[in-house]
Amino acid sequence: MKNNVISKRRLNFYIILFLIVIFSVIYKFTINKDVYSKNYNSDIKSVVDIDDDKKIVYLTFDDGPTHVVTNQLLDILKKFNVKATFFVVGKEIEGTEDILLRIYKEGHGIGLHTYSHNYKKLYSSEEIFIDEMLKTREKVKDITGYSSNIIRFPGGSAKHLNSAFLEKLHKNNLKVFDWNVNLCDGVNPNLSTYRLLDNAKKYRKSYSRLIVLMHCNFNNKNTVKALPKIIEYYKDLGYEFKPLTNECEEYYYKFKK
Ligand SMILES: [Zn+2]
Repeated sequence: MKNNVISKRRLNFYIILFLIVIFSVIYKFTINKDVYSKNYNSDIKSVVDIDDDKKIVYLTFDDGPTHVVTNQLLDILKKFNVKATFFVVGKEIEGTEDILLRIYKEGHGIGLHTYSHNYKKLYSSEEIFIDEMLKTREKVKDITGYSSNIIRFPGGSAKHLNSAFLEKLHKNNLKVFDWNVNLCDGVNPNLSTYRLLDNAKKYRKSYSRLIVLMHCNFNNKNTVKALPKIIEYYKDLGYEFKPLTNECEEYYYKFKK
């Protein structure tokens, strides 16, 4: 009987130990997923990797230009005298040329976010992906005169980027920009302004440079509402707002080969 109790206790102990190990592994895995790549070449400093005392935030808006939402965001950015970056979709520029021009004239960064934004199509081959970026670059250049070298993968570069692909992108003068803060307003545009602001606060406190992913789709009305609070939050923490430009060192997620 006594032996039975001891072996039961021992069994419980092993079960608990096993669970602790499993949870530790899951925890570590999840946290590691959150580790964003610096550049592989240690000689190159990425935009988030420059170790001076400056705190910089790059606000970025994907999927535009759109009529109402992009204009409203631009109004707020102007009011706060803050520069951001818009990763534009080539096909969305049809009919919104004036908004693209406004983005450019008001000093914001312009990045390329494919032509179709159709995952199935653009991830079917690296050539199609690159063609879409180049086509969007030409369209932006036709309207603004500005030739952008900066790109963002729809959904992020993870699972798509490898060293051979990166080399091809570089040959086409394209630099990759992922993010290290995510508002999650792309997957869920209806998140409350409170939740959006809360997401803006979620980042590693060791980061002195933040790249914040936001969206300017027609349904991102809550992002518009949250933007003043997000700007004030980073301002209060002493962050300086800058646009991403062709000169910025790229920032992409870690990949294996
Ligand atoms: Zn997108």
